[in-house]
Amino acid sequence: MSDYKSPIWHPYTQHAIAPEAIHIDRAAGAYLFARGSDDGGDPEDERCIIDAISSWWVISHGHCHPDIVRAVQFQAAKCDQVIFSGFTHDPAEELAEKLINVTGENLSNVFFSDSGSTAVEVALKMAIGFWEQTGKPRRKIIALDGGYHGDTFGTMSVGGRSIYHKLYEPYMFEVEHIPFPEEGRESECFDALEKILNENNDDIAAFIFEPLLQGAGGMRIYSPDVLKTMADMCRAQDILLIADEVMTGFGRTGTLFACEQANLTPDLMCLSKGLTGGFLPLGATLCSADIYKAFYHKDKSKMFFHSSSFMGNPLSCAAANASMDIWENEPVLERIEQIAKSHASAAGALSKRSDLTKIRQKGTMLAMDLKVDDSGYLSNVQPKLYEAFLSQNVLLRPLGNSIYILPPYCTSQDDLDKIYNSINITLNDVVN
Ligand SMILES: *Cc1c(COP(=O)(O)O)cnc(C)c1O
Repeated sequence: MSDYKSPIWHPYTQHAIAPEAIHIDRAAGAYLFARGSDDGGDPEDERCIIDAISSWWVISHGHCHPDIVRAVQFQAAKCDQVIFSGFTHDPAEELAEKLINVTGENLSNVFFSDSGSTAVEVALKMAIGFWEQTGKPRRKIIALDGGYHGDTFGTMSVGGRSIYHKLYEPYMFEVEHIPFPEEGRESECFDALEKILNENNDDIAAFIFEPLLQGAGGMRIYSPDVLKTMADMCRAQDILLIADEVMTGFGRTGTLFACEQANLTPDLMCLSKGLTGGFLPLGATLCSADIYKAFYHKDKSKMFFHSSSFMGNPLSCAAANASMDIWENEPVLERIEQIAKSHASAAGALSKRSDLTKIRQKGTMLAMDLKVDDSGYLSNVQPKLYEAFLSQNVLLRPLGNSIYILPPYCTSQDDLDKIYNSINITLNDVVN
């Protein structure tokens, strides 16, 4: 055991070897401010860390954006939490309208929950329920290899099978996984999809995917054309399309939603992370009118059976509304474009390094793989990289040997340069 003192069990942390958690006292813009010393913390010693991964992909406009702070403070004093069955409130009504307006024509209804995982669980239950309710039961789900949709059993089942979930695999339901469409090897993915479609005529309920960018699977990208091809193949058999935009949503890939780039309106869309600008937890599953109607019935037993206590929480919805207003009132897409441009030129420079491979960029995401013998999530190089970045006050948390940047949109050019520079320094000093 290390001399770890806190009783808190942190996520994705091996406490026997992990250093003590960094104690954050406040956050603003692209920065996290850590306590200088462990005992009490002298504000004078405060350490400023650049949050180059948006605190695990959630922060959109920056930490503690004043408009969101104000909206949440106002809502907190007005109405905290309300049962969401049989009751409603302004923040949720307003947000549902806003979401319907920005997500394209096919999506007409919004089911609120409290996280990305629940947004996905709800989508899966709606998809399976849709076929059952319409009298043509379909039971199978298709998913991409290496996907990540959450850590509950349903979402683990549709996610890529990997080291983190090995122990629980016997408890997961069966899913038809198809190869990830690697650039240049897309036909392997299409062939596998076609084979499954041929063999399972009329038994596939839905295809779930992270559009254009797989996050936890290693920041892997594929083109809008590839997405469109897969979607069209599924559509030919009326298979429901579930776009998990939990990470890609709200600007990460360069557009508000990644699906836009493929001109695709899915039947179900899952949102969370950036939905509130990253300020508070909230999930949303948007669905088509056909799906809503399949459950719309005088027969009570046909209702959609799902609830979580804090669904549609007024504070979370108020944060989301404020975040959506920032999208309208501030030049957010321009900021995103600036970051994308900056990333593209940094990618050019980094590509000259012989210790890097697979440098890839999509919108505000820039990723690269360090050439090592042991790649993958448990790569020995990961903790070294992580610690080295932190020692330069840059929060980058590589996925195994994949280093990636996913900054909040307020990140300045100066800070972006610091981040790129920290990668160069780290690779020069620490790894080699
Ligand atoms: C993070 C993530 C989830 C799970 O969201 P949580 O809020 O962590 O439950 C689901 N899908 C994708 C694509 C994600 O990146």
